Amino acid sequence: MRFICFRDQAGLVQSGWIYEDKIGLVKGSIFDEYQRMEADIPLAEVDLLTPVQPGKIICVGRNYAAHAAEHDAEVPEYPLIFLKPPSSVIGPGETILLPPQSQQVEHEGELAVVVGKRGRWLQPDEAMKIVFGYTIANDVTARDLQRKDGQWTRGKGFDTFCPVGPWIDTDFNPVDSMLSVYVNEDLRQMAPTRDMVFPISTLLVYISSIMTLEPGDLILTGTPAGVSPLVPGDVVSVSIERLGELRNPVGKEPRR
Ligand code: MG
Repeated sequence: MRFICFRDQAGLVQSGWIYEDKIGLVKGSIFDEYQRMEADIPLAEVDLLTPVQPGKIICVGRNYAAHAAEHDAEVPEYPLIFLKPPSSVIGPGETILLPPQSQQVEHEGELAVVVGKRGRWLQPDEAMKIVFGYTIANDVTARDLQRKDGQWTRGKGFDTFCPVGPWIDTDFNPVDSMLSVYVNEDLRQMAPTRDMVFPISTLLVYISSIMTLEPGDLILTGTPAGVSPLVPGDVVSVSIERLGELRNPVGKEPRR
């Protein structure tokens, strides 16, 4: 099933589920008790918002060998993790704003795991049970600032640097699906998710040995090779086969 958040025609933020080209309201919390109402609103008539407001966003660096190689970096021995702030999240169609502090902002198309249950010290055979579903994310990165600072909070943390959506799919199988990123009409990134160095179950075991995973948390599973700079006026599209497409235009944030 596919869950969304959307703004209805009265301007209210609602949760919903998708059936063919219609949506129905969802009453309650998708991570707890909820009720699905009849799907009778045309999907085309609403503005989709980010399908989840994460408590935390845990990202995995260098999880595709070819991407590590394009930055002359080794594949890590264990997952390399970092955080993006929840304030960086935007929804499908919202504008990625290039900040005045950076001259090199790049896209990183990624498969994102949506956590559905609390978990700490997960064991390999149970880790996947806490997954609620999957969505698409763009780990937008100010590459020049990431390099300059050594640690990544500034380069990864600007407002609008985490587009997420368009929905959460609870039936998606993440094992082998093609991920591709277009900037305008140009193919920039393309690789199957089976190229991940550390599979999702390993990531869940590792991350939950450090911090409690909670419903709504997002895990961005890393980006393949082909990251490239964005300029105002671009449109970035991240597609994952059988999951969907996340599109965002690019603009510029004025210096204040
Ligand atoms: Mg990334």
